[in-house]
Amino acid sequence: MPSHLTVIRDLDDMYHQRARWKREGLVVALVPTMGNLHEGHFSLVKLARKKADRVVVSIFVNPLQFARGEDFEHYPRTLKQDIQALTLLGVDLVFAPEATQVYPEQIDMANEAARATTIVPPAFLTNMLCGANRLGHFTGVTTIVGKLFHLVAPDIAVFGQKDYQQVAIIRQMIYDLNWSIKLITAPTSRTEDGLALSSRNQYLTIEQRVIAPRIYRTLLTLAERLRDGDRQYEKLSRQMTTTFKTIGFDEVDYVEIRHPNTLMPSLETDRCWVLLVAVRLGKTRLIDNIVVEAAFLS
Ligand code: AMP
Repeated sequence: MPSHLTVIRDLDDMYHQRARWKREGLVVALVPTMGNLHEGHFSLVKLARKKADRVVVSIFVNPLQFARGEDFEHYPRTLKQDIQALTLLGVDLVFAPEATQVYPEQIDMANEAARATTIVPPAFLTNMLCGANRLGHFTGVTTIVGKLFHLVAPDIAVFGQKDYQQVAIIRQMIYDLNWSIKLITAPTSRTEDGLALSSRNQYLTIEQRVIAPRIYRTLLTLAERLRDGDRQYEKLSRQMTTTFKTIGFDEVDYVEIRHPNTLMPSLETDRCWVLLVAVRLGKTRLIDNIVVEAAFLS
């Protein structure tokens, strides 16, 4: 069993480690996570292994990306099991910094007078989809990812397509802030019944767990309609919203048909779309998306 995994909690230790790797000319990949790892995370790690000499997985439940009333306190924390699983996967380093070191100043997003610098992504990418429902969420994400980029100094960063808007925002941040980091996206891992893997799935009751896979199935139905030539995007979104409610979802935050690169509303002439959904079952908010291409002759 491989046993060379190092766990670093202290920021200075991280700086020293990354400096050693730089001196040796090694290619380093970073997989940022909030822990409670599942096969979705592991697929990112496996991709990172293929692309880099050293793989760092960061585990940090980032308080800054949780809006007021969200599940920060209850978010599952399973560091010991996570480290065991990552050891088996041949990960070189787990970076699990202390919140007091990452955010030494008081930095509550709900508090306008936060006493520390944040990275604010542009509104054209955040004033829609999840950004519209989770105020301050993406500033929390870009701030922590920016910090991790500085601390780990990776050559490659791996993110999941499951969080489609997050990937778009991080790609924009890398470009805007002139980072020379290669962003790699991994496809969404699903259970056999199609539900996208998520740490939040464990909040679901047995009844809700039966309903949840219908998210993916409904997305596939929508994809069929687009492939059949239907371009009435707004009508389709409205119909899908009704479908989700009929199925038993308690709330539909959005069902959107967008351009996969720009995330702007789709045009009639488009031949490629990303279909994005956020729905709620009780208090649990689930997101999913698929990218669809027009059938050759449609
Ligand atoms: P999280 O721990 O939820 O912040 O996720 C860490 C990374 O894993 C992000 O890049 C997510 O997009 C990715 N991820 C989460 N769930 C999945 C999944 N089901 N398939 C692929 N990647 C995922």
